[in-house]
Amino acid sequence: MGSQADGPRMIDEATAKSILAAAGIDVPAGRTGDDPELLLADLTGPFVLKAVSPTLIHKSDAGGVAVGLAADEVRAAAKTMRETVSAAGHEVSAFLLEEMAAGPHEVVVGAVRNPGVGWVVMVGLGGVFVEVLQDVAFGVAPLVRPQIVEMIDELRGLPLLQGARGSEPADLDALVGLIEALAGPGGLLDLMPPQVTEIDLNPIKLGARGAVAVDARFVVDPTATVTTDRALTPVPPTDFSALFQPKAVAVLGASTRAVNAANLFVRHLQTSGFSGRIVPVHPKADEVEGIATVPSLADAGAIDYAFVALPGAKVAEALSQSVDGVAFAQVVSSGFAEVAGGEQLERELVESARRQGTRIIGPNSLGTHTSRGGVGFIPNAPYEPGGVAVVSQSGGLSVDILRLGSASGVHFHSVTSIGNSADVTPAEMVGHLLDLPEVRVIGLYLESLERAREVLELVTSDRLVTKPVVLLVGGRSAEGSRAAASHTGALSGNHRLWPALARQAGLRLVDSLDDFLSVLLGFDVAKPSVRVSSRDVVLFGNGGGASVLATDALARHGLVTPTLAPEVVAALEAFDLPPGNGLTNPVDVPAGTLAVRSGAVADDILRTILASTEPAVVVTHLNVGIIQRNLEETHGDVTGRIIETVARLQAETETTHHLLVLKGDGKSDMEERIGEYARRARSLGVAAHRQFEAAAVSAAALLAEPAPTTSPQENL
Ligand code: ADP
Ligand code: MG
Repeated sequence: MGSQADGPRMIDEATAKSILAAAGIDVPAGRTGDDPELLLADLTGPFVLKAVSPTLIHKSDAGGVAVGLAADEVRAAAKTMRETVSAAGHEVSAFLLEEMAAGPHEVVVGAVRNPGVGWVVMVGLGGVFVEVLQDVAFGVAPLVRPQIVEMIDELRGLPLLQGARGSEPADLDALVGLIEALAGPGGLLDLMPPQVTEIDLNPIKLGARGAVAVDARFVVDPTATVTTDRALTPVPPTDFSALFQPKAVAVLGASTRAVNAANLFVRHLQTSGFSGRIVPVHPKADEVEGIATVPSLADAGAIDYAFVALPGAKVAEALSQSVDGVAFAQVVSSGFAEVAGGEQLERELVESARRQGTRIIGPNSLGTHTSRGGVGFIPNAPYEPGGVAVVSQSGGLSVDILRLGSASGVHFHSVTSIGNSADVTPAEMVGHLLDLPEVRVIGLYLESLERAREVLELVTSDRLVTKPVVLLVGGRSAEGSRAAASHTGALSGNHRLWPALARQAGLRLVDSLDDFLSVLLGFDVAKPSVRVSSRDVVLFGNGGGASVLATDALARHGLVTPTLAPEVVAALEAFDLPPGNGLTNPVDVPAGTLAVRSGAVADDILRTILASTEPAVVVTHLNVGIIQRNLEETHGDVTGRIIETVARLQAETETTHHLLVLKGDGKSDMEERIGEYARRARSLGVAAHRQFEAAAVSAAALLAEPAPTTSPQENL
């Protein structure tokens, strides 16, 4: 065992295989020794001969593997192998002679420890498929059978394993069983000491019956230790109501001379409609921002929420002054674990707060916005309460989420900038938000896989996940997680691990901030009782090209726009509409048609369609710029009329989601009008998007499988 003096080493193949066998994974029968002829005893041909050499990692590259040997060919093969392998610079210390496993398929299964996530597991098709096409799928251990099946289903090359192109179908059950033995609860990975950092089974031979690991590589890093979790004072279960509805708010760090974050925070409180007690804490000044101060938290009484913008080193001490308690301290100060050398300070802060029963939000955060609580951290924050609760690892992005979200019609329950999440974690927040009836959808912006892993743990414990959780990720780069000795290591970049974590946790992963907000809006406004029976969409609105683009956008998200039945089209034609309509779906009509009876015609058209079809979604798209600029004088508020029609239809149905797309002409007066229309639509129970793409991504999310409501363990 071992090659270089330090750095990763390999366990020899025969030992690795005996470990696999003990874990219930099939390996070829084989024997190791110097004299290949003596190894033949008890083995049945055809044979595979392999060179054993501590320095040889990729055996076949150096001529160290000979397959398909008959018994009388073994001696000669060994002689040649010794020569070629030594010519390649490796000394052959012994031979491994194995029975040859039947194919025809080869797959790769591997596992690598990721510092934040733990064991991540990969499955892929062997050979060129993994090397060139990188057709692999990842999962996070422990994996239960249905999750393993989902991983395998993700492989683009799966049809090849199922027997496409005339090959023999592979025993996929055996593959699932093998992965379960490796990565299932209590599987081999669970038993590995911390020094084993990678396991690569490349390849596994897969035939009509059985799965056999014919090569096994265990990478050992003698210096590796698994960091045991920080041994902090344990957290008691926390009631987060005081964070979202604080009655007494303390502010530490406001200045009498300058206007800093704490001063601004007080000013926001003074204008937000916050009705509780504001207690500025200042050691010297009598008043701050026109409010009487107390010299320390000792005189502040019981505080629900303290906004702390002191220099980092002073935070713990200042909080410890409290006599009657601080339930939550939002530490906006920086200089903690986000900077080199700040870890100790952060640990001390959390430890000291825990002893006191104070929960820390942050540090290195911006604040917590709560609409009902009337507390926020940006000027003129949107306090209209809604069902969208967001937890963000980025402070700056939480500002964008509030601003852009509210501009696109999102009403927030809360936005928590959780910063370094040294104490309260995103997972803990999710746990609480799942319990709040007023929260309809949770949005997470995460940058750390470790934090995502905690969310996975939460939702796969006995937790009922009864509402959608939407995930936006920062840092999905394609880089491999380490300079790897295996395909698994090389391919386990963050861009692979985030989707795996999201899939396993039932989180809806989105690609951009725009999509994040569109999906949150969609879930917040959608009628919760609607149950759809298809992925069909009816598109209705003005603009032929626009309808085509909309169809494409929907298709990109897996939604179809099927042609209406001839009877329905005939019924629509019978309405005696102005010319120029396409009535087959997309139902694209010119503005002049929409304006018939000042827009009341939309009711006839949509009702006729819905009388005989049951689409999952109706997208009504209106080019408001054209409709209102050209037809307002003659036909009045056509847009408003159609919005009301759509809202009425939404109220009447339990089987269809109605969405609106309202488009302008780029002029600011029209943008403003559209904003008003969107607010009106929202107040009537219909989400209005500004782009087809937004409607499509939101519709697809609404139609996606519901989040798992039971633990996958129960499926075993
Ligand atoms: P390497 O170190 O080059 O990865 P392997 O042990 O994987 O060496 O052997 C190379 C190839 O030989 C494998 O990819 C597989 O196709 C074939 N092979 C190796 N061992 C066996 C076996 N016992 N049965 C069938 N094929 C085998
Ligand atoms: Mg191999």
